[in-house]
Formats: sequence, structure tokens, C-alpha cells
Amino acid sequence: MGELTSGARRLPMGDLQQRAARAAAGLASLGVGRGDLVALYLRNDFPFFEASFAAGLIGAYPTPVNWHYTADEARYLFENSGAKAIVIHADLIEGIREALPPGVPVLAVATPAEIAEAYGVEAAPVPPGMTDWSAWLEGFPPAEATTTEAPGTVIYTSGTTGHPKGVRRAPPTPEEAMVTMTIVGRAFGFIGHGDPQDIVTVMTGPMYHSAPNAYGLAAARLGAKVILQPRFDPEELLQLIAREKVTHLHMVPIMFHRLLKLPDEVKAKYDLSSLRFVVHAAAPCPPPIKRAMIEWWGPVINEYYGSTETSAVVFCTSEDWLAHPGTVGKAWPEADVRVIDAEGNSLPPGEVGEVVARIRGMADFTYHGDDAKRRASERVGLIAPGDIGYFDKDGFLYLCDRAKDMIISGGVNIYPAEIEAELLKMPGVADCAVFGIPDEEFGEAVCAIVQPQPGVEMDEAAVKAYLRAHVAGYKVPKRVELAAELPREDSGKIFKRKLREPYWAGLE
Ligand code: ATP
Repeated sequence: MGELTSGARRLPMGDLQQRAARAAAGLASLGVGRGDLVALYLRNDFPFFEASFAAGLIGAYPTPVNWHYTADEARYLFENSGAKAIVIHADLIEGIREALPPGVPVLAVATPAEIAEAYGVEAAPVPPGMTDWSAWLEGFPPAEATTTEAPGTVIYTSGTTGHPKGVRRAPPTPEEAMVTMTIVGRAFGFIGHGDPQDIVTVMTGPMYHSAPNAYGLAAARLGAKVILQPRFDPEELLQLIAREKVTHLHMVPIMFHRLLKLPDEVKAKYDLSSLRFVVHAAAPCPPPIKRAMIEWWGPVINEYYGSTETSAVVFCTSEDWLAHPGTVGKAWPEADVRVIDAEGNSLPPGEVGEVVARIRGMADFTYHGDDAKRRASERVGLIAPGDIGYFDKDGFLYLCDRAKDMIISGGVNIYPAEIEAELLKMPGVADCAVFGIPDEEFGEAVCAIVQPQPGVEMDEAAVKAYLRAHVAGYKVPKRVELAAELPREDSGKIFKRKLREPYWAGLE
């Protein structure tokens, strides 16, 4: 029987199920029913699991919300989702109070001390006059599940290219649920890597994001031990792996980067031999970083590529990647993955085009409240996540970049991901983002924003000189800026839209 742990707190699976069944009765008493949305404005904490399971028991859709949102962003999301109830951590209420829709019940979760500490906020009790989630659910007898279907979900995309889109999946048929379980089981290493009840994993990513959400909930349902790390800390992760004998992890490349930057003596201190299956996705992983991780952790590093809409469609093991460096993987047998030209024709190996994909037999999705966008995302009957790439002759997929991030400078295509991968290798660079800015002569010019590691002195000339030695001249940024911190999401993605905006104001 699995359990959740967070610092010194633990919640055995039996208790989690009990509490979820009580909360299901509570939600039903508030009028939440089949097909309704329950917004989860929560950090990774036990109530996230309780509320997700509770909603599923009565056929409602758990809808995680990115708790970093400003009041305006939260308002958009609450309005767009039409959530019938909101479960929220107490310390987050103040920042978005004005966005809470009138008449929608709000259930507040006291913010535990270790979560508050990790985020540098005050441990917050439930504000006076508000309903306390824990006390509230205890007041209901556990509800019998009103449905045996796997739950439907609405998961919002990261919003890296515009407003987040609510990807809505109705409860799957038993056949569709089988396909999802197979894909998720393989991508996350829950199939074929030991008994799920022996799995020990650390939740490193935020559960409002689609992949960590699916990962954490599936691990708990399968009876794994799920350790919640409130905020990613590289050395703490190594400590947890060694102490808890962690077997499985789901990560994003910036975490690898931060792990690799740890001093050698710290890296050597911990026994990591318990790791059996580590998988990463969500953002490009520069090849030197991936190679260094495989050298350090062994051939346990796997990768998949996909999106909230398509799920994981390609996958590669360490061995696959070493034989095909830079690939994001090969299509599952169930997946139809193509690289197409503007007319929808499939392109031969080596030719760059738009990546489109679909998993046969998986439950289809809609964009919550936006049919036009759903249609716009379709090409040749498949879904376009918005990426550009190519296949090699062995059927392995390589991504060049996101279509919207590609820079066209003087008619030449430049992929920021390639420049970022080089920049991350530069000593003293903690993080970076490359994007296009308006340029009178070339239409667009390359701009790089670089975040130096703490205490490192760096200037524009040094960055340009480094890149001149490592990429073709036309890819060297015309403009380089230094920043103390980049807007990188816990989900591993950089919010380039926010970085680009000031340069393009009034021009796009
Ligand atoms: P929005 O659609 O709101 O702009 P988003 O596209 O970032 O948000 P997600 O579904 O969260 O939505 O992310 C999917 C994207 O993540 C993919 O289209 C791809 O660009 C990126 N991605 C996923 N896996 C990988 C990978 N292994 N390597 C590189 N990029 C990846």
C-alpha cells in the first residue's frame, strides 16, 4: 500500500482514499456533479491528491491551476473554466482574492510549515470566516463512488504561446483507459521496471502541469511511495534518492543543469544506485547535459516528447539516445507521428517540417470552451503541438524548436534552442533565453538574455565572444542582456512571451 510523504508528514494511501471519499460527499453537497470542474489552486501537497481523487469519484473534473498566476491570469482561468468549487492554499488567497468568482465555494488549505519555508512565505492558517478544507471534509461520511469510470480532466497548457488552453478529456471508455494506462505506464516507467508497490519517487515538478500531474496521480494510484519535494533543490534531491532509495523520477532539463552545477564533492557524496527509471520531457535538453547525466547516473535516463493535447508520442532510452544523440525518441507502436510540409505531405528523413501526432485509441480532447482552437490545432487529422523537427532514417525524431519561437532573420531560419544549448555550456551561465526582436534591416534579430550564476561577473562582450567561437556568425545575438533571474516556470519552460513583449510592444 502506497503513501504520500512531505517532510515529516505522511499520508498512507488508505487515509488518502478515506479523505477523498469524504471530500467527494462534501463536493456533492455543494452541488458539484458530473462534468463540473473543481479548480485546484494548490502547491504540491496532500490536498492536491485528495481533491483530485474526490472529484473523480463523483464524475467531476479536477482542474489544476498554475498557482504562480497573477490576479488577472487567475481571473481568466476561473472564468474560462467555470469551476464550481475552488480548493486553494491559504497563503495564496491574498494575491488573487479579487479574482475569486463571487458565489463559488472556496475551500482553504492551511499552508504547511515546510511548504511555506521552501517558498519563503509565511505558514498561513485558514483565514477567519473561510472554510477549512480538512475540518470541512471530516464532517461528511465517505461517499460511495457514483462512477467507476476513470476520471475526466481539464488540464491547462503552460500558456507559453498565449492564454493557457484548457485541454478537456471526458472520462475515457474502458478501451481508451487501457491505451492511456499503457502509454503512461511505459513513459513513466511504471510498466516493466519492478512492482509498482516497490516504486519510490520524488515529485519534483509542479502538479498543475500536465505531465507531473499525470505522473504523481498515477504513481499514487498504483501504490507507490510518493515523496513531495515542495521546491526543487538539487542537493536535497540527491539526499532523498540516497536516503529513501528512490527508484523513479520525472524531471525537466533545467533540473539536470542545476544538478550538474553542484560541486564534484557533493555529487560524489550520495549513493544513487537505487535509481531504475528517470524520465525527462517538457523542454529541450541540450545534448552535453544529457550525455553528462547518463555518464553520472548511468543508462537510466529516458525521454519522451509530447504535449498536453497529444500525451507522450515518442520515447527513447539512454541506449537509443547514445546511438542517436539529440533525438527525443521514436514513435510508440500506437502513435502516428509525422513531419509534414505546409501542404500536409509527410516529409522524408532529414527534411524539416511541422511535427504532428496522435495516439490511436486514446480519448480525444476538446479545448474547454473553444472549439475553434481545437480545429486550428488539427493537421491531416492529427494534432500539431507547434514544434518543428525532422526524422532520421531510423525513425528517430529530432526537434529544432517551437514554431512560434523560430527567428527569421534576413530570410534565414534560426532556432533559439540551438543557441541556448551552446550558451548553457558557457562557464558561469545559470540560465538563458534566446528570442527574436524587431530589426529594421533583417526583420528580426537574435537577442539573448543571460542569467549568470550567483557571484559570477559577466558582460555582453564575453557572451558574444563565446558564442562566436561556438555557433555560426549569423546566430550570434545582436543584443545580449544580463538578468538576475529569468521567468522560468517550475514546469521547466521559459516564458519567452513575457520576455519578448517589451521589444514587440505595438509592432505585433
Ligand atoms: P501553450 O500551448 O499554452 O503555449 P505549451 O505548448 O508549452 O503551452 P505543453 O503541453 O505544456 O504546452 O507543452 C508541450 C510542449 O513542450 C511541446 O510542444 C514541446 O515544445 C515541449 N516538449 C515536450 N517534450 C519535449 C522534449 N522531450 N524535448 C523538447 N521539448 C519538449
